[in-house]
Amino acid sequence: MKKLPATLVDSHAHIDSKTFNNELDQVIKRAAEKGVTHILTVGCDLESSRSSVELALRYPNVYASVGIHPHDADTINKDVIEELTRMIETVDKVVAIGETGLDFYRDHSPRDKQRESFRQHIQLAKATGKPLIIHDRDAHDEVIQIMQEENAAAVGGVLHCFSGDLTMARACIEMGFYISFAGPLTYPKNEPLRDIARALPIDVMLVETDCPYLSPQQWRGKRNEPAYVHATAEKLAEIKGLTLEDVARITSLNAWRLFGIGDIDQSTRIAYSIRNSLYLNITNRCTNQCSFCAKFKDFTVKGHQLCLEREPSTDDVIKAIGDPSTYDEVVFCGYGEPLLRLELVKEVATYLKQNNIKVRINTDGQANLVHQRNILPELTGLVDSISVSLNAPDAASYQKICRSEFGEQGYQALKDFLQMAGQYIPEVTATAVTLPGVDIEACRKVAKELQVEFRERIYNEVG
Ligand code: SF4
Repeated sequence: MKKLPATLVDSHAHIDSKTFNNELDQVIKRAAEKGVTHILTVGCDLESSRSSVELALRYPNVYASVGIHPHDADTINKDVIEELTRMIETVDKVVAIGETGLDFYRDHSPRDKQRESFRQHIQLAKATGKPLIIHDRDAHDEVIQIMQEENAAAVGGVLHCFSGDLTMARACIEMGFYISFAGPLTYPKNEPLRDIARALPIDVMLVETDCPYLSPQQWRGKRNEPAYVHATAEKLAEIKGLTLEDVARITSLNAWRLFGIGDIDQSTRIAYSIRNSLYLNITNRCTNQCSFCAKFKDFTVKGHQLCLEREPSTDDVIKAIGDPSTYDEVVFCGYGEPLLRLELVKEVATYLKQNNIKVRINTDGQANLVHQRNILPELTGLVDSISVSLNAPDAASYQKICRSEFGEQGYQALKDFLQMAGQYIPEVTATAVTLPGVDIEACRKVAKELQVEFRERIYNEVG
């Protein structure tokens, strides 16, 4: 499978800024050369909202958000709201409301005016069905409070250039909001912000420049521009242990989901890459119905759509793999239990081993119950490594969390599978998801008793 080039969306720019006046064509061209396919330019006052709309109408890959920044909250009145509403209702390329919010750091407008303006923007978003772009500086608690009181969750949106703490980020995500990172993610002293990015699932993240402000470290002190968003995306990739292509694909999908902008390929993947591994999606059936399984909400993994209309044949899978030699390993995974399709796994693994490719299987470890025999000898020489989801230290908790179709018998079967696997497969690892209610240390102890490696998997980090 050919890897796609990294294409990014700058989800928050101010390209109406006078600093771009004489060279906007070149700025947009430089962005395109760096793979920035779409730019959302964000209004801060009435004039810049009008300019943003004009730019969206002039450039095919530019979209607009309209609103009044908290700095200018004291300019808001009935006429301003009416004009913003007109822009939203008459121009399709106006895709969001903002930036709005609270800025108690600079306090350029009286705080009461800021609060009132923020509430009016949320009401406007709800009336027009557009997502919100929220600015928050030194006003975390009140931003959350107003979002809750005004039911901002009804429309969702993004906390742009996020500067809050982890608790605030989680509260925003809970309300269906995205978290966006800009140049400060690259600043050497900003480890607390990187810790937040590390702790949150990337499926709720966007990247932005906020240009002409907040240039990434490499250009700090100079004018920022949309082309530089790749530096923030690269830093995010480093933090999340992903590639730039992964971050580009995921954040572009997020921007598309939130604002409806971008060219997104959501066709189903049989083979899909994350980092330098190729994953194979061969079935959506499973012997478990884990309470935490993301497929019950969304069949996307790291920006790849995995909902199969039909199960692929061996030939389909081999065709989807393409040239496997560019990957570190090929993994049978997907949103289903791969060993339900044992014959296909063996055929494809045979093909991969003929090409000297490292093969891994991620499984729930109940294949011997499914097939009513010990299938492990059949994997000898075909599989280099197997990861088995343990997720519980005893049968009753396993059944509560993973809901095996075999009942509590499923847990004993997976433990037996783990114990025997080492005789046939070189690397055997038990895993557990860091989920509230999952006793990681007790799971680690079980793995130790079974004499297999153990690995924690971060809950909400699918893939
Ligand atoms: S074993 Fe995996 S695919 Fe199956 S339900 Fe659990 S999390 Fe989902």
